[in-house]
Amino acid sequence: MSTSNIHSATFLKGSQYAEPRTTLSVVVPFFNEQDVLPEFHRRLTAVLDGMPERCEIVYVDDGSKDNSLLMVQHFIQSSSDVRCIALSRNFGKESAMSAGLEHCQGEAMIVIDADLQDPPELIPQMVSKWREGYDVVNMQRSERRGETWFKRFSAACFYKILNSMAKLEVPENVGDFRLLSATVVKHINALPERNRYMKGIFSWPGFRQVTVQFERDARFCGETKWNYLKLIGLAMDGITSFSIRPLRLATVVGGLVALSAFVYGVFIVMKTIVFGEPVTGYPSMMVVQLALGGVQLLSVGLLGEYIGRIFIETKQRPLYLIQSVYELPAKCQSNQAMKFKLGETA
Ligand code: UDP
Ligand code: MG
Repeated sequence: MSTSNIHSATFLKGSQYAEPRTTLSVVVPFFNEQDVLPEFHRRLTAVLDGMPERCEIVYVDDGSKDNSLLMVQHFIQSSSDVRCIALSRNFGKESAMSAGLEHCQGEAMIVIDADLQDPPELIPQMVSKWREGYDVVNMQRSERRGETWFKRFSAACFYKILNSMAKLEVPENVGDFRLLSATVVKHINALPERNRYMKGIFSWPGFRQVTVQFERDARFCGETKWNYLKLIGLAMDGITSFSIRPLRLATVVGGLVALSAFVYGVFIVMKTIVFGEPVTGYPSMMVVQLALGGVQLLSVGLLGEYIGRIFIETKQRPLYLIQSVYELPAKCQSNQAMKFKLGETA
């Protein structure tokens, strides 16, 4: 497969293009998806070709080790409206999405998974909602096919906890598949934080929102890149990036425990004065000590979670590094195309 006529260039921001403004950008982060990409691209282009709007597809290669990037380079040869931003390694889906958001030019933008769990056929419906005047079209899963009951249950618990802790409303069962207007994207891109829990970040700007129900399909093929440990990490990111209530909860629990310890202490002293005290009470002493130790360790761990995130924020490292941007040369103005620098950050 020859990719010689594909340019490898620094991405040019929208205003630098002489072409008419793109209406819709579809951002597709992918990581090792060679088995599904041809079918995904076929279905996506079939949908976009049938739409009157000018659309672009922005693939983001999140450091794939298989032939995914080669396949996408092949797609790029067939259309000047397809581009691919190849990151220098696997930075994770949240960073890959940020890269896509920062490099799309449309007046509206849709993030979609490459594994066909989010049906591309729903895109026209999302665009029509945007045309009605909504800035954010949330796609809510009415059914989560191909997922275990435990994943569905833990997801439901997580959204309950997040929404009760965070001051913003993160819609339940809305994944990353959604439409955002250019205004919302501009505000999201301006957020300086490194801990990017995108489902929260997408909800943070607010604006006019609408939620549309859809049935989420099972993965077309291959396996999810998320295991339970990674999901727990993501859940912790979500809660700690949007709320300090766990810290307050630790203070409240600490206060309650200290208060009960004081009351219990007074009771023991009084009891000893009145009745005397033979050496007993080992079980109650152990219970109190273990309970106190548990609460203390939990609170220290919680503090650590926040301090760890402060540590990451203070380092100010970029969210991702771009190795190359692939697109047909026709899309670039020749002098600007030469600005490419390997490893340049976004
Ligand atoms: N993905 C990515 N980087 C990663 C992991 C996943 O870009 O480190 C992409 C993946 O290729 C897919 C999307 O994110 O297009 C959703 O991933 P996955 O299907 O594994 O997640 P799930 O649907 O199980 O939440
Ligand atoms: Mg998936």
